[in-house]
Amino acid sequence: MRGLMLEAKWEPKSGYAVSEWEKRTGKAITGNSIWKSPTLAIREVPAPTVGPKEVLLKVKACGVCGSDIQFYETDAQGYVMYPGLTKFTCITGHEFSGEVVEVGKGVTDLKVGDMVTAEEMIWCGECKPCRGGFFNHCSNLEEIGFTINGAFAEYIAIGSKFCWKLNALQERYPDVNTVYELGATVEPTCVAYNGIFIRAGGFKPGAYAAVYGGGPIGLTAIALLKAAGASKVIAFETVEARRKICSAMGADHVFDPVALVKQGSSPSQVVLDLTKGEGADFQFEAAGAPALTIPEMEKSLAINGRIVQVGRAAERVPMYLEAFQVRRAQFFGSQGHSGDEIFPNVIRLMASGAIDNRKMITARYSLEQAVDAIKRSGSRTDGKIMVKPS
Ligand SMILES: [Zn+2]
Ligand SMILES: [Zn+2]
Repeated sequence: MRGLMLEAKWEPKSGYAVSEWEKRTGKAITGNSIWKSPTLAIREVPAPTVGPKEVLLKVKACGVCGSDIQFYETDAQGYVMYPGLTKFTCITGHEFSGEVVEVGKGVTDLKVGDMVTAEEMIWCGECKPCRGGFFNHCSNLEEIGFTINGAFAEYIAIGSKFCWKLNALQERYPDVNTVYELGATVEPTCVAYNGIFIRAGGFKPGAYAAVYGGGPIGLTAIALLKAAGASKVIAFETVEARRKICSAMGADHVFDPVALVKQGSSPSQVVLDLTKGEGADFQFEAAGAPALTIPEMEKSLAINGRIVQVGRAAERVPMYLEAFQVRRAQFFGSQGHSGDEIFPNVIRLMASGAIDNRKMITARYSLEQAVDAIKRSGSRTDGKIMVKPS
C-alpha cells in the first residue's frame, strides 16, 4: 500500500541531554530537540496485518493537523518544529475515518463494513495513570501518526477499543462521503471538548466566552461553546480567511488581534467592552501563543472565570496570579481526547446538527497529493484540509 512516510535523522541538539528512556525506546519526548532534516514522501510499504483485537480500516478521509505542518517545517538548525512525543520513521496522519475491511479473531463489537473514526492516543489501560482513568496521560502512550504508523495511507490497523462507529452520522447525512469527512473531524473536536467540558468543567449556559486562535481546534471550540449555550463567543484570529470560518462556526464577534493593537486597542479591551465590563467567563487558548494570549485573558477575566490552555508552546508565560485570586479564577491545562465519553458525545452532537463541521472543511486532496496538502496547510489560511485516500 501507499503511505505518507516521514523520515528524519536522530541527531540530538548539542546541549540536549537524551534520557535513558529516549535511548531505550527510540522515542523523542521533545521532538524539536532530536529530529533533524525531515523528509516527507509517498512510499510503497507493506499493508499492516491485523492482531486479534484489531481491525483493518480502509482509510476514507484524514485531516491535516497543525502538528503535521510542524513535522514538515524546520527551525533555523533544521529540526522539526513539533515539540512533542515522536518516533520516526513513521506514516503521519491521525485525524481519520475509514471502513472496517477486516476484523481480528477477538473483536466482537465491530464488523466488516462498519464506518468508524478512532482515537489517536493509544493508551495501554494498565499503567497507573490509565487505571486512574487518565488515559490522556498514559505512561506507555503511543500516538498514531507520531510514534506509530498513521492514516495518510490506504490502510491502518488499530485496536477495536479505540474505534467509534459513525452510524449515527449517517442518519443525518445519507451521503457516505460526508459521513467520512465529518468522521475525520471528530478527533480535533474531541480535543476541544476535553478542554472545555472535561478538564475545565464547562460553564453555565449564558456565559460569555472568548477563543484565541481560529485554527481547527479553535474553530471546533467555537462551535462547541455556542452549542453549549454561551451567549456570546468572541474570537481572535490573525488570518482573514480563518476569521470568516470563525463566524461560520458560530462566533458572534471576530477580531484580528494585530489590527486591534495597531488601533490602540487590545483583545482584553474588546472583551471588556462586549461584556459591559464583566469579562469573559470562559476563555480558550488555541493559538499556541500563551505568552501573548494569557496576559490578555487575565485582564478580561470575569469573576469565577476559567481559562483552558489547549494550544501547544514550549515557552514560559508571565502570569499575574493576583488577578486569579482577586477574580476567583481558574487555569486549566488540557491535553488529549480519550476517555470520559468524549468521542461518542461529539458524534452525537454532530448527528443532532448541534455542530456542523462541514463549514470548516476548505480543501480536499488525494493521497498522491498529500505532500501538497501539508504544504498548503503551512499557509495557515484553511479550516480543515482533507486527504482522501479512497
Ligand atoms: Zn491533530
Ligand atoms: Zn497507560
